[in-house]
Amino acid sequence: MLRCVYEQDNMMIYKAVLPPVGVNTYLLYMQDHLFVIDPGITSAELPEMVGRSYQDLSIVITHSHFDHIAGIDDFDHAEILITQAALPGLYDPAINLSGDLGGGMMIIKNKNTRILSLGENTIHGCSFQVMIFPGHTQGDSVFDFGPFLFTGDFIFSDSIGRTDFRFSNHDAMKQSIKKFKNYLSKKQPSDLILPGHMNVCTVEELLDQNPFLSLY
Ligand SMILES: [Zn+2]
Repeated sequence: MLRCVYEQDNMMIYKAVLPPVGVNTYLLYMQDHLFVIDPGITSAELPEMVGRSYQDLSIVITHSHFDHIAGIDDFDHAEILITQAALPGLYDPAINLSGDLGGGMMIIKNKNTRILSLGENTIHGCSFQVMIFPGHTQGDSVFDFGPFLFTGDFIFSDSIGRTDFRFSNHDAMKQSIKKFKNYLSKKQPSDLILPGHMNVCTVEELLDQNPFLSLY
């Protein structure tokens, strides 16, 4: 249920697949800090299961669909790192789709948000790039830490995020895929793609297995 998917230079990433609909929640331990990416239900129990010490914890959100934000309020008032484009869905059930698909109206109580800028961000001494690839939602954010990228529901190992939801846009997705393909040419083949659902893969495997990268 909880497994280590990356370990190098005192950095560790754990992946868990959590309710309500099998979201990939990641724990990234980096320089005494813990980043919890897309917390599903019960994700607040994960740090204790790992048992690794950390100074402080931030929640990172790739996009605000209900399955990726469902565990936020279990972390009390932890800082939420999110782009401006993804922010509205935290507090709007129409945007986070909880009203349509989640079996209830989800409105996150935690307002302790810190807006990430596009491009380079340094948070608690950890640097990473933030990009928006709209299509699945208007605010699909990708976080590039160098040897690994969190891609949310923008792109999976062999598929892409659905574009038939409210606020999705298939034409925007096509443009995003083109842009991302270009971006990948700057990455190492062994860099890791950590998506919001299904399997982790390398950049090389993504380019090999994902038919949408050659389609658009
Ligand atoms: Zn989604």
